Amino acid sequence: MRAGDCKHFTGIQHERCTAGVRYLDVRDSSQPGPYSWPCLKLRPCTTTCGKFESVTADEEQAFQRESDRILAAVLADKCPECNADLLIAKSGGSCVKSCPTHGFVSRECRVLGEP
Ligand SMILES: [Zn+2]
Repeated sequence: MRAGDCKHFTGIQHERCTAGVRYLDVRDSSQPGPYSWPCLKLRPCTTTCGKFESVTADEEQAFQRESDRILAAVLADKCPECNADLLIAKSGGSCVKSCPTHGFVSRECRVLGEP
C-alpha cells in the first residue's frame, strides 16, 4: 500500500478490488508493454475508475508500521494477533508457522542452514 495508489487495490491476481470493481473493466491496454491500471500511480494510465480513493501518506505509514509489527512477530515465532507461540512445521528448506487459536498461517519462511 503506497501513497497515491488506490486504497481498494488488492492485487491484479484477484478478480475485483475491495470496492467491487473488476480489474479487467479498468485495465489500460492502449500502450505496448505491460498493462496499466488507474489503481496504481506506478505507470501512466488512460483509463479511470469512479471508485478510486487515494492512499494518504499517513495511511501508508500506518500500513508499513503494521506490516513491520506482523513480520517481527512472525520472525520471533509469535502470533501477531495474540502473541502465542506459533506451531512450526518444517518441510525441506521451508516451513509453515501457524496459530491454532487464530488460524494465522505464514508460509515459505526459509529455514537457513537446512537443505
Ligand atoms: Zn493467535
